[in-house]
Amino acid sequence: MKKKFFLFFFFCAACGKPLDKPSRSVVLVTIAPYAFFVERIVGSTVDIQTLVPSGANMHTFEPSPKDVEKAYQAKIWLRIGDSIEKKLAAVLEEKNPSLKQIKLWKEVSLLSYADTNELLPCNENHVDHAEEGKDFHFWLSAKIMQKQVAFIAAMLIDLNPQHRALYTENLGKLLEEFKKVDEQISSRLSSSKNKVILTSHPSFGYFCKDYQLTQISIECEGKEPSPKYITTLLSKAKEFKIKVVLKQPGFNNKGAEIFAEKLHLPIYSIDPYSKEYFHNLIYLTAIIEKS
Ligand SMILES: [Zn+2]
Repeated sequence: MKKKFFLFFFFCAACGKPLDKPSRSVVLVTIAPYAFFVERIVGSTVDIQTLVPSGANMHTFEPSPKDVEKAYQAKIWLRIGDSIEKKLAAVLEEKNPSLKQIKLWKEVSLLSYADTNELLPCNENHVDHAEEGKDFHFWLSAKIMQKQVAFIAAMLIDLNPQHRALYTENLGKLLEEFKKVDEQISSRLSSSKNKVILTSHPSFGYFCKDYQLTQISIECEGKEPSPKYITTLLSKAKEFKIKVVLKQPGFNNKGAEIFAEKLHLPIYSIDPYSKEYFHNLIYLTAIIEKS
């Protein structure tokens, strides 16, 4: 033991560097779009752990024990308010009590599904209280996200004040790109004739609100639709001027595929949880524009 200790100090003195380089802080994000935002701000100064990989069904995903254990090291967790976070939050509160849980939805004025699916409300008995019936897919709004990334950057500067200059500069560049993308989408969609999208899962309510579009979801508030709702939707599809159907990887897209076939509409796959955030919004714009 003594010998080992001696060797340790000898090695240290010889190399002139601290033996154990302090590892980078870990920032945990629930979904991949936030990994993109954080990475754009911090570069390679932080380790980013993404809980739900792109392409998975967020609402049914279960993290592996290895992923949960990795999250014990995290300093900050960017939470979006999905129910899958609750179980992990309970574990992390015990195992990682100093973890800063950032509840991003608290900064957003949440829409309810009744607002984002207004053309054809799927739930007649909708009770809109507390967080029930609220739409949490807010990250697909480039307008909301411009405020949110500034807030996230401030958190990251608090975590690593030594990188303040770098993070501030990167945030400036990110906001610049947000502005450009938002303006591009706005101008392309304002001249597009197509104003309605039919989607398997209601992920695009905030995007639609930003650009004066309407979302009709086949799932009712994220759950299986009733037969009555499906019949109404089929009979009113023409009246609603539905021109395109969207399906999402990891979700049950059977309904979307049947609708597309019955109504002779084009169907595209788009992942709301993609890490390629700007590409994804532009791709969605192109789909709507050409339909
Ligand atoms: Zn969802």
